Amino acid sequence: MLSYDVSLHPDCLYTMSIAEKNSNFLEQIIEKDLEEGRVCSIHTRFPPEPNGFLHIGHAKSVCLNFGLAEKFQGQCNLRFDDTNPAKEEQVYVNAIKEDIQWLGFQWAGDIHYASDYFDTFYQWAQQLIKDGKAYVCDLSPAEAKAYRGWATTPGKESPYRDRSVQENLDLLERMKQGEFEEGSKTLRARMDMASPNMNLRDPILYRIRRQSHHQTGNKWCIYPSYDFAHGQEDAIEGITHSICTLEFQDHRPLYDWFMDNLPVPHRSRQYEFGRLNLNYTVTSKRKLKQLVDEKSVDGWDDPRMPTLSGMRRRGYTPDAIKQFCDMIGVTKSDGIVDVAMLEHALRNDLNEKAARAMAILDPLKVVITNLPEGHRETIDAPIHPNYPERGTRALSLTREIYIDRNDFTEDTSLSRKKFKRLVLSEWVRLRNAYVIKADEVCRNDEGVITEVRVSLVPDTLGSNPPEGIRPRGVVHWVSATEGMCAELRLYDRLFTEEAPDRDGRDFMDCLNKDSLVIRQGWIEKGLASAKPEQHFQFEREGYYVTDRYDHSAEHPVFNLTIGLKDTWAKKA
Ligand code: ATP
Ligand code: MG
Repeated sequence: MLSYDVSLHPDCLYTMSIAEKNSNFLEQIIEKDLEEGRVCSIHTRFPPEPNGFLHIGHAKSVCLNFGLAEKFQGQCNLRFDDTNPAKEEQVYVNAIKEDIQWLGFQWAGDIHYASDYFDTFYQWAQQLIKDGKAYVCDLSPAEAKAYRGWATTPGKESPYRDRSVQENLDLLERMKQGEFEEGSKTLRARMDMASPNMNLRDPILYRIRRQSHHQTGNKWCIYPSYDFAHGQEDAIEGITHSICTLEFQDHRPLYDWFMDNLPVPHRSRQYEFGRLNLNYTVTSKRKLKQLVDEKSVDGWDDPRMPTLSGMRRRGYTPDAIKQFCDMIGVTKSDGIVDVAMLEHALRNDLNEKAARAMAILDPLKVVITNLPEGHRETIDAPIHPNYPERGTRALSLTREIYIDRNDFTEDTSLSRKKFKRLVLSEWVRLRNAYVIKADEVCRNDEGVITEVRVSLVPDTLGSNPPEGIRPRGVVHWVSATEGMCAELRLYDRLFTEEAPDRDGRDFMDCLNKDSLVIRQGWIEKGLASAKPEQHFQFEREGYYVTDRYDHSAEHPVFNLTIGLKDTWAKKA
C-alpha cells in the first residue's frame, strides 16, 4: 500500500513506481481470476457522468480501465452514467468521447448509456417490490434524513415500510406516470435500518425528478439512484471487473445485494482504488464548473484547466499523461501527488518529441555592423539535436537580429559564472551560428537601450573562435527582418496554494493572478507554417504548442506548455 506525499521528489517517486510496477493489485486479481477460470476474459468499463469535462483524475481511471483491458486482451466499455438529468448535457457527452480517443483509447462496440436500461431497472424495481424487498416511502427528504440515524446510532424504520405489494406497485406506477411532486415519494430497498453501514439503511432506489433528459427526453420523471443503477449496468453489459474509487467501498455490500436479489444476467464485482489528487490543482467537476461559470477561466478547455481538453490545448501529450498515470501506479489509499511529477512526465516526453526552434519574448535589436545591408545567410540548424534523422530547419542570419533583452547587460562587473550571456565589450555565441562581440549601445531619449551594435567574429560557424576570444555562453536569436511576430500566451499554474480547496478556504481565493500573461514575441519565420497542436521547444525558453483553435500562418499563436525547469520548486 502506498500513499504519496507531496514532499517527495518526483525522481524518488519515479523509482518507487518502478519498484511497484509489477505489483498492481488489480492486475494480480485479474491474473488470478483468469488463471482460476472465474472469468475467461476481462471486461471493464469507464463510467463518466456527463456533467462536466474529464479531468486528470478521470485520466487515471481511463488509463486503468482501458489499460487493463488492453493488457489482458479484454474489452472496455464507455458508458455514460446518466441517471441525474439535472446536471447532464450533450456537450459533455461529446467532449468526453473526444478526450478518450485523444488519449488513444477506443471503447468496445457502441457507446452505452445507463438510460438505455431504464426499462429494465423499472422491471427490476417491480420485482423487488413483489419479493417484499422494496417499498414506496412518503417521508420528505428532511424526515428521511432524521430517520436514518447516525453512524453510531441506528436509524428508525419508515412508517411506510409495511405497505402491501399491491399498494407499492400501484404507487410506483403512479410515480412513473407523474402523479406526484418531486421529493414527495421515493422507492427504497427494504434492508436494515440498524445496519452499521449507513448505505444499507433502506437506500433510495428511485427519486422523482421532473426534468427532461438528454437521451430519453420526457419519457421519465423518476430516475434510479447511483446505487440502484451502477451494478445493474455492469451486470447487463457483462462487466467482470467494475473498478471505482475508494469512496464506493462502503457501497459494495449494496452492489452485491442487488446482484444477489435481482435476476441479473451476469455477476459483476466491484474493486476500489485510490483517487488521484494533485497539489495546486482542483479535481472536482463542481469546482471546475464554478471556474467556468464565473469566467475565471476561458471555458472548460482553457489551457490552465486540469481538464484533458484544457491540458491538450496547453500542450500536454497523451503519452505524457499516460506515463504519469503509470508512474503513480494504482494504490489502495488516497494520496496527494505532487503536480511536479506530472510536469516531469511532460518535460520528459516533450524533450523527446518537440522540434527545436527559437523565439524571442522580449526583443532587443542587435545590429551586426560588419555584415552588409541586405545580407542574408541561410544556416541549417537541427530540428532535434539528439535525432539528426529528423532533419534540419533553415535559419536566416541577417544584419539585424533580435535577442532577448534579459540576455544583454552593460554591467561588465558580473562574473562569468553569474551571467553567461552578452556583456558589453565581450563575446557570446549566437545559438547555431557565429560568435559576436558587443561594441556599443544606442539609447532613446528615456535612456532605454534600443539597439546593441555588435561585430561578428568570422569563421566561428560550427568552430571555436581564435585564442583570446572567450564567449560567455550561448544566446538564442531571431532575424529581425526575416522573422515574424507571434502571440505568445504564457500560462502558469492556476492556483498559488498547494491545497486550494483545503477545508475552510475558498479555492477561488487562491487563484494565481498571473496565470496568463500575453506577449508579442518574435519567431523564426518557418514556424508560421506550423499546424495547430504542434509542439516546440523554444530553445532556452520553454515548451510551446501552437494553439489548437487560434493559430494561423497570418496570426501565429503559441501557448506556453511548461518551462524548461521547475521554477516553482525554486520559489518553494
Ligand atoms: P468529480 O468528483 O470530479 O465529480 P466523479 O467521480 O463524480 O468526479 P464521474 O464522472 O462519476 O466523476 O467519474 C467517472 C469515473 O472516473 C469514476 O469511475 C470515478 O471513480 C473516476 N474518477 C473520478 N475522479 C477521479 C480521480 N480523481 N481519480 C481517479 N479516478 C477518478
Ligand atoms: Mg460520480
